[in-house]
Amino acid sequence: MSQATLSSNARPSMPAGTQVVPITVTHGDGIGPEIMTATLKILQAAGARLQIESIDVGEKVYLSGNTSGIPPEAWESLQKNKILLKAPITTPQGAGYKSLNVTLRKVLGLYANVRPCVTYPPFVPTAHPAMDVVIIRENEEDLYAGIEHRQTDEVIQCLKLVSRPGSEKIIRYAFEFARLHGRKKITCMTKDNIMKQTDGMFHKLFREIGQEYPDIQQEHMIIDIGAARLAAQPELFDVIVTLNLYGDIISDIAAEVSGSVGLAGSANIGEDFALFEAIHGSAPDIAGQDKANPSGLLLAALQMLTHIGQGDVATKIQNAWLRTIEEGIHTTDIFNENCSTQKVGTQAFADAVIARLGQSPKFLKPAVGGQKNERISIKLKERPLAKKELVGVDIFLQFNEKDVEKMANDLKHYKAGNMELTMITNRGVKVWPNGNPATFCTDHWRCRFKSPDLIPSEFQDVLNLMFKLSLVGYHAIKMEILYTFDGEPGFTLGQGQ
Ligand code: ATP
Repeated sequence: MSQATLSSNARPSMPAGTQVVPITVTHGDGIGPEIMTATLKILQAAGARLQIESIDVGEKVYLSGNTSGIPPEAWESLQKNKILLKAPITTPQGAGYKSLNVTLRKVLGLYANVRPCVTYPPFVPTAHPAMDVVIIRENEEDLYAGIEHRQTDEVIQCLKLVSRPGSEKIIRYAFEFARLHGRKKITCMTKDNIMKQTDGMFHKLFREIGQEYPDIQQEHMIIDIGAARLAAQPELFDVIVTLNLYGDIISDIAAEVSGSVGLAGSANIGEDFALFEAIHGSAPDIAGQDKANPSGLLLAALQMLTHIGQGDVATKIQNAWLRTIEEGIHTTDIFNENCSTQKVGTQAFADAVIARLGQSPKFLKPAVGGQKNERISIKLKERPLAKKELVGVDIFLQFNEKDVEKMANDLKHYKAGNMELTMITNRGVKVWPNGNPATFCTDHWRCRFKSPDLIPSEFQDVLNLMFKLSLVGYHAIKMEILYTFDGEPGFTLGQGQ
């Protein structure tokens, strides 16, 4: 671990009372060290008030036998400083190496991924000159919980977990972000026409919380059409808030259609911790050649400065950077005959930005911002616990014969408490009673035992039912208890029910 203070040059011009903020920095692999050097050089010249602690994570650490890619002393530094500026790393090929990004995200509780996707026409050619979108993606839940089970010969399940506090946090974050940054509209994207409970809750919370922000225009789109529109007409969007998997996909779509993948940074924000990085990888093909564009990491560092209350420095750098771009001083990746005037290497690009500190762009929209502390803190709404009643159970069975009538005839004799067999589905589609013979069936069956009138039963009744079924050879591979919450069913109907 090594330490350095960046603010030494800048101290004389520092406003009284402004604090030097300790941060942790990783120099990464591939082009990481070059773009980090360039970025820190610009931050220093602009007067960022930072105390830098450098730590090693990534390839070297993985190859030393640490499968997490992050050693204990790095955790100590993070624990202390709570802010990480991270250069891209290389994860060695082969099984057994855990993704460092997923680990950091989960361990540090970084619930919000914030990715601005902006175009810089005509200086960086793009098909979408008016694109300026910020994608705010839930970062911890959804299918990324990684809870997967093989349940039968034919069927494997992956659990999609969506929590109310997790959804509320990201939606509130999006609204607060929009307000703080003068954004006009938020689009929420879900697939609640299909996932009525999980995505349905997300959409419902968006509508509910949105009422507290009447100053911001609000709309909802089903994710498939939303993604298509984003790809075709990104200028229609301002801020987008969505669940983890959809957010992962649409942030790559947005970055790609912007034509500025190499220029994009992203922030991962939690209650206490935050991580800032470029969206590109470690680009080993151009490592060590002074060719890499440091802009993605630089723009991520500007998100960091804003987050720690040094928006004044961020604005100054952003304007110098915009000026450099519009003067045509470009690294190889964005060099083009029409708009570029000078092809420069990584460090020369940084020097060009430094030379323009204090200047504003003439054509591109200048950044405005202040020194206010822009850390967004979320307070969740307190909600009373609902009255939860057990009204049934879905028992999942492997049944290789694939003869649903036989299965139903066996199972309908078994009752417990107020529960009786009301439905059998296969891959979610109702196949009994009154199934359609055309429905393709696997060996994985869901048998719903429920009170038709939602009259509660006891947990003991569920155990008795499972015990009785096991005696006749129906061994459950999984069960889901059916509850009502304040009388509202907490489960969906079968498709076709
Ligand atoms: P990863 O899986 O880590 O994302 P990748 O190889 O899929 O790695 P990148 O490392 O982002 O993706 O590289 C993709 C391409 O973009 C490479 O040709 C690389 O040289 C180029 N590239 C990535 N980042 C930069 C950069 N900052 N400046 C210039 N070119 C870059």
